[in-house]
Amino acid sequence: MRGLSEAFPLDEASIQSVLGRPVADDPARVADILAKAHDMKGLEDEDLPQLMAIQDPDLLHELFDTARWVKDQLYGNRIVLFAPLYVSNLCANECLYCAFRASNRDLPRRALGRDEIAAEVGHLLGQGHKRVVLVAGEAYPKEGLDYILDAIRTVYGVRRGEECMRRVNVNIAPLDVPDFRRLKEVEIGTYQLFQETYHRATYARMHPRGLKADYDWRLGCMDRAMLAGIDDVGIGALFGLYDWRFELLAIMQHARHLEDRFGCGPHTISVPRIEPAEGSATSEHPPHAVTDQDFRKLIAILRLAVPYTGLILSTRERPEIRKEALRLGISQISAGSRTNPGGYEDDAFEGGAQFSLGDHRTLDEVVCDLAQTGFIPSFCTSCYRMGRTGSDFMDMAKPGEIKAHCHPNALSTLQEFVEDHASPATRLAAERLLAGSLEEMEPGARARAEHMVARVKEGERDVFC
Ligand code: SF4
Ligand code: SF4
Repeated sequence: MRGLSEAFPLDEASIQSVLGRPVADDPARVADILAKAHDMKGLEDEDLPQLMAIQDPDLLHELFDTARWVKDQLYGNRIVLFAPLYVSNLCANECLYCAFRASNRDLPRRALGRDEIAAEVGHLLGQGHKRVVLVAGEAYPKEGLDYILDAIRTVYGVRRGEECMRRVNVNIAPLDVPDFRRLKEVEIGTYQLFQETYHRATYARMHPRGLKADYDWRLGCMDRAMLAGIDDVGIGALFGLYDWRFELLAIMQHARHLEDRFGCGPHTISVPRIEPAEGSATSEHPPHAVTDQDFRKLIAILRLAVPYTGLILSTRERPEIRKEALRLGISQISAGSRTNPGGYEDDAFEGGAQFSLGDHRTLDEVVCDLAQTGFIPSFCTSCYRMGRTGSDFMDMAKPGEIKAHCHPNALSTLQEFVEDHASPATRLAAERLLAGSLEEMEPGARARAEHMVARVKEGERDVFC
């Protein structure tokens, strides 16, 4: 087994070299790259600058249409929904863009106790959520990692009638291999961690103090997680800290490295853009702010470059951008989110939040909007619970076979939402979508999906394949 020193040696020079080559306006070359993207095997680094440079509206449409097509081929038109669950905003780090940073003394600090976590989960279950990502600042109460492990057990233990959280993903500070093993033992879904910026010099400026100042410790985190047996990992960058084109190529390198070393690339890639955060001048004026147009491009290019990977968008973004992003290849979104610990229980209190939200709609409103625009809102958690993780998952995702599970599971979980949580308007929109989607399916798949939906209508819950 290789040592940590061999963990993902990011090659910045090769990225700068790819980005430094002149790119001519060349529609024929763009057409070739998009034709290659149709094979759904990903793209080479050298292909990306040509797509990044597109300005022509017609070529942009072709790029966006191809991204949508690839997403539909692999995952269908379902959009998986989740909520962040902030359990603590204690933090010892000093990330210049974040409200939780240690020197922000005006921020109300809180680490939720068991009962408070259970109350938060109860609220999320009451909205209809089935999947959360547990988030904590990078300093724990005196129990250390045990605090997080206990919090995860608490989340899984909450019952609201027959409802419970079916998947707990985790976004916490990097661990060593033994601690990652402990995290795996509490049955997490995906372990997520973002490098924030892959550009070493920018990273040093943005993280002046605290453990997070160690770029390499963070960069090697997913290697340690995978060595510990956590085979679903989620990577990402905080767009706005450095040139988005550099971050994109670095994400591709990271994905390739994990695939080469562990036989399995990242389960998800997140694309957060910097949003204003309390007491952070950097967040108000990001050094490399990404325009909406570039943001659309980067999502579409990622979908083509790493086609098998789930792409996640949060409620940082405004509803208009989120709607567009769905057509460019995003496959998971958060909804009805709060980014302050205790924010679901105390809806009116917004103090102690990590950043400001762009989308304030409730889960029901998001579900209604998705259904009205033809996307199937999905609460599916089946892969993780069926053991389809890591390379087993990728073996199905890469040839597009996972869609045969995504689609019926999206329909059965949407029916569950309709039965238990939907407002009248959402019920109407969802029922129309369910009927239309079933009608469009080929006979064998349709019979199976209809049977699953019927079981839910008859009162059964948690029906999945
Ligand atoms: Fe702490 Fe994370 Fe915020 Fe940095 S980004 S200050 S580590 S919570
Ligand atoms: Fe996600 Fe798997 Fe469900 Fe598809 S079937 S939505 S990939 S958990």
